[in-house]
Amino acid sequence: LGVTAIRYTPPGSGQAGSRIAQLWLLIDTSRNRRALLIQLAQRLGTTSLAGLILVLFLAWILRRHVADPMNELIGVSRRLAEGDLDLSLEVEGRGEVAELSHAMDHMAGQLRSAISALRESEQRLSITLDAIGDAVLVTDPQGVITRMNPTAEELTGWSAEEAIGHPVIEVFNIINAETREPAEHPIGRVLREGRVVGLANHTTLLSRDGSEYQIADSAAPIRDEDGNTIGVIMVFQDVSERYAMESEIRRVKDRLHAILESLPDPCFLLAEDGRYLEVMGGPEELLAREREFLLGKHIPDILSPEQAAPIMRTIEETIQSGKVQHLEYRIDTLTGPRLFEGSAAPVEHDGETVVVWLARDYTARRQAEEQLEHLARYDQLTGLANRSMTLQRLDQLLHANRRSGTYGAVLFIDVDRFKTINDSLGHHFGDELLRQVSAMLRQEIRTEDVAARFGGDEFVIVLGNLGSEWTDASTRAELIAEKLRRICGKPLLVNDQPLQITISVGIALFPDDDSDVEEVIKRADIAMYKAKEAGRNRICFFSPELQEIAETRLTIQRELRAALEEEQFRLFVQPRVDGQGRWTGGEVLLRWNHPHRGLLLPGSFIPAAEGSGLIDDIDRWVLSHSIRELARVQEGLDEPFHGLSINITADLLLSPHFPDDFRHWCMEHAISPEQLELEITERVLLEDHAQAAEIVEEMRGLGVHFSIDDFGTGYSSLRYLQRLPLNTLKIDKSFIDRLPAHAGDARIVTTIIDMAGHLAMDVVAEGVETRAQADFLREHGCGQFQGFLYARPMPWKEFFERLPQESA
Ligand code: C2E
Ligand code: CA
Ligand code: CA
Repeated sequence: LGVTAIRYTPPGSGQAGSRIAQLWLLIDTSRNRRALLIQLAQRLGTTSLAGLILVLFLAWILRRHVADPMNELIGVSRRLAEGDLDLSLEVEGRGEVAELSHAMDHMAGQLRSAISALRESEQRLSITLDAIGDAVLVTDPQGVITRMNPTAEELTGWSAEEAIGHPVIEVFNIINAETREPAEHPIGRVLREGRVVGLANHTTLLSRDGSEYQIADSAAPIRDEDGNTIGVIMVFQDVSERYAMESEIRRVKDRLHAILESLPDPCFLLAEDGRYLEVMGGPEELLAREREFLLGKHIPDILSPEQAAPIMRTIEETIQSGKVQHLEYRIDTLTGPRLFEGSAAPVEHDGETVVVWLARDYTARRQAEEQLEHLARYDQLTGLANRSMTLQRLDQLLHANRRSGTYGAVLFIDVDRFKTINDSLGHHFGDELLRQVSAMLRQEIRTEDVAARFGGDEFVIVLGNLGSEWTDASTRAELIAEKLRRICGKPLLVNDQPLQITISVGIALFPDDDSDVEEVIKRADIAMYKAKEAGRNRICFFSPELQEIAETRLTIQRELRAALEEEQFRLFVQPRVDGQGRWTGGEVLLRWNHPHRGLLLPGSFIPAAEGSGLIDDIDRWVLSHSIRELARVQEGLDEPFHGLSINITADLLLSPHFPDDFRHWCMEHAISPEQLELEITERVLLEDHAQAAEIVEEMRGLGVHFSIDDFGTGYSSLRYLQRLPLNTLKIDKSFIDRLPAHAGDARIVTTIIDMAGHLAMDVVAEGVETRAQADFLREHGCGQFQGFLYARPMPWKEFFERLPQESA
């Protein structure tokens, strides 16, 4: 037996003798040898020489016919083993050796053709593998590389020569493209699982030279006929470009998706038949149904026929025209009906033309627009026209009336004491009252007239056509105003509370002179102001005199500022007396020593000061000067003078730091607050009740006295008086005037005196001019008097000069 390994060189492998095969030779020589040896032994036994010659001859024969051919055969088999298949066997001889030789020759021939067939197929395989664009790597079952094509060489950076025999993991070095962690090796998996595996996505091949490739593809087991895995073939491609493109596409897609999803407005892809192909963007509540529900459904299944029809029509038009179409429509969404502006654009999708539908919800915008429009024209609280709309309408009327020679009128209406009501009963109450007043006003005018609210409790009525005669027009205007006054004066029920109000109305006719819109309104306003001044709950026409008054007011306000700076004010004092006519105190009354108009009474400037905010400064001046002057005159008196009263308004009382300032003035001049009395009107307590009451309490704590001035003229409310620790009640002059003859006034006065007695308050009767008045008051229990009967207001100095005698 002869077994030998032979090497051969597959063509194209470039490596000589890289393949190993085994050559088996089986020659049975034992039979021949044994026979010869027996013969030799027998002959040696009988004749030694002849035997020897024979032996030599036999040896020669043996050599010639057995050993030499055998040696030759061995050589041949060696050469065969070495891969030399092209040899020819020329073995001489007969018998078994010749047979053997022929067999070997035949075998060599067979081997030659088998190997050349193998070579040919190998060559074909190599050519194929080399020609393949994909990289191919083959390993044995141990994962050692056995074959590699040029593309694989290129990508791995290894030449086949270097790589073959190396473990594949050294050559085919892959990582996860995203994490850059080593990736699972496909060959390992194939060997483990015995099936074809694809490479994971995002695989990066690290080339030996440092370059990186995105690769894709698969590895498969190589099996022999019995199904045993005898190796792994791996085919891979450089997909870097494709990968880059794909990831770009993916990124673009993701971005687009994110954009579409975050679109505030819904976006649909709709088929021609109204099928929802995609539903993107927009919050779910803007869609007619849930996103998932819509997909695959048809618009006519989702929306009502009226709502679906225009949309379907627009889809059709879009596809037919190939152009973008727009549609404003309304649909019932999950949160109720909403308005949309739809834009439909045709796009190609899976070979058919479909529509991208962008739906912009403009419900809120429309609402805002409507609201703005309404805001711009109407008063929000009452729904009446607002100022700007009224001015616009009045402007039209002014021109029209000028042309047609007809007259119209503006009624300026103010709810009397609205502030008091609002403050004491609350804003909700006030608002409701204003709504009721608006309703009443609107009801009483014709449709062509305008009812408006100018803010606060101010209403304006524009009556367009009242005829072509001035006097007729004014009569009609007055009749209408009177009707409004009466209706508003009826008992009301506001938030279940009974209430009665009054209104003051100012009327201005137009066109008048060449007055413009603003001027007409201003005139009506001036007239209304006059109605208020005249005692409220009345109607007043604008007149040129009123205009003058209004203008004078402005002048006064200007001059008052100068008066304060230039110390044009003078303090006067009017004595208060007891039943015996003895002076018990005095009221400080202000006089204005006007540079041109001489000494002015408060009546001619206090109202103007009140309207401008100047009153606060004036009152401060009066109060601080009174305290200072009192300190000065006191030095000449035997004992401190008690009972100096000073008038103050709500503006001062409620101004910041007033109690502190007051305390400061007193301390600075060593005047005890108990020596002073502050006169406030009922109105202060009514209109600013809560706050005013608080301050009065605080100041009462300092010891200062308070008196209620002009008592009886306001809405006298015993409740307020009861709760506040007030000292004195001053009965208004208007009740004193007609005493004692007027029974009504007499009753009122006696009631007030009684009431004050119950509340432990002092009573002062103001404006006492006659002895009869004084007697009546005294008889009914009034203890103190003030009036021309006793003394007129006199300059400060004079009062204190006379005081010692008069009070004794
Ligand atoms: P008042 O507080 O009621 O003051 C009494 C007014 O009645 C004074 O008018 C006084 O001169 C007048 N008077 C007194 N006795 C008689 C009388 O027998 N017959 C008549 N016909 N009148 C009499 P006056 O000084 O013109 O002041 C008018 C009002 O001006 C005051 O009414 C008061 O409300 C206000 N006033 C005066 N001084 C000040 C001040 O310093 N500050 C503030 N806020 N108001 C002041
Ligand atoms: Ca007074
Ligand atoms: Ca008074």
